[in-house]
Amino acid sequence: MSKRDYYEVLGVSKDATEDELKKAYRKLAIKYHPDKNPGDASAEEKFKEAAEAYDVLRDKDKRARYDQFGHAGVDGQGGFGGGAGMNMDDIFSMFGDIFGGGFGGFGGFGQRSSGRGKRVNKGGNLRIRVKLTLEEIEQEIEKKIKVKKYVACKTCGGSGAKAGSEKTTCSHCGGSGVIIQVQRTILGNMQTQTTCPHCNGEGSIIKDKCPDCRGEGIVQSEEIVEIKIPAGVSDGMQLAMRGLGNAGARNGINGDLIVVVEEVDHEVFERDGNNLCMQTYITFSEAVQGTTIEVPTLSGKVKFKIEQGMPSGKVFRLKGKGLPDVNGYSKGDLLVRVDVWVPKSYTKEEKKILDELSKLESFNPKPNAKEKSFFEKMKNMFS
Ligand SMILES: [Zn+2]
Ligand SMILES: [Zn+2]
Repeated sequence: MSKRDYYEVLGVSKDATEDELKKAYRKLAIKYHPDKNPGDASAEEKFKEAAEAYDVLRDKDKRARYDQFGHAGVDGQGGFGGGAGMNMDDIFSMFGDIFGGGFGGFGGFGQRSSGRGKRVNKGGNLRIRVKLTLEEIEQEIEKKIKVKKYVACKTCGGSGAKAGSEKTTCSHCGGSGVIIQVQRTILGNMQTQTTCPHCNGEGSIIKDKCPDCRGEGIVQSEEIVEIKIPAGVSDGMQLAMRGLGNAGARNGINGDLIVVVEEVDHEVFERDGNNLCMQTYITFSEAVQGTTIEVPTLSGKVKFKIEQGMPSGKVFRLKGKGLPDVNGYSKGDLLVRVDVWVPKSYTKEEKKILDELSKLESFNPKPNAKEKSFFEKMKNMFS
């Protein structure tokens, strides 16, 4: 697989300044951030691609090598510009120096810095699809769903440390999780803050790791989660349940559970926003003489009257018999299209009556103004 040119990835020119690179990357990182594009593999690829490009181009040496030798000049150099692809943790740890503290709004997975100090591990978001029938969508429902996820390790209580083995404060950063370096530049002293590599920013070090979770503080497990889904949701809708996702490593913060709604096709109703549509038939004699018909709704059957002389294809609106609005108190309607059933076969007895009827029928239609406008509508339908 050949890699795209890093400048092309970021959409900048070959002589882009550091600032231009940063701006271009920032834009892409926000656009393709996994929290904004859950489940979208191509967005994740782009997100990683942009991070890799930026990571190489922001480094003067790597950029020079890249300019001279292309990808071959920077691949396999180790670190996360190594070309082997950055993992999500690398990317998020890079955010610290690009977005400063201003990137907290997303709240997703990976590791995030909590304020200025120690790093808190955030558990990954969990995505599940939930199939719902229209009957279930019509009202708020509670569902119990078995999910596979990371939970805190019971053996060590989530600390990651072996019983009796204490966590010790990291001697390199003094427990702060960050290392502050002061550099002399022509503009004066510049302070840079980087994540402590010895404790991975956590401020403490585990001497003996818990054998059950290998020091991670989390283990894979199955859990029944109870979720409440509001009435009126629709196919593809995503509901974020805060804190119900994977547990974070070493007593970190839980990720979220993202519930993706999948609407099951109904055998009678077709959904159109909050309205429901259905179709039914009456006989010719019923259409001529009028009748009362019974139709199903999501909450039981309802009857309604059809006046005599109903034209085939008439649509009846049953107010409030549709779905509730997910954001409000209003309800959609049920639209019932009633067609006149024309049988393909008939009995001898029916034929006798039909013959008699055809002798009596006075059927002499002529196009009138109303019908012409109907033809106009028809034409529009096919154009
Ligand atoms: Zn453990
Ligand atoms: Zn440290």
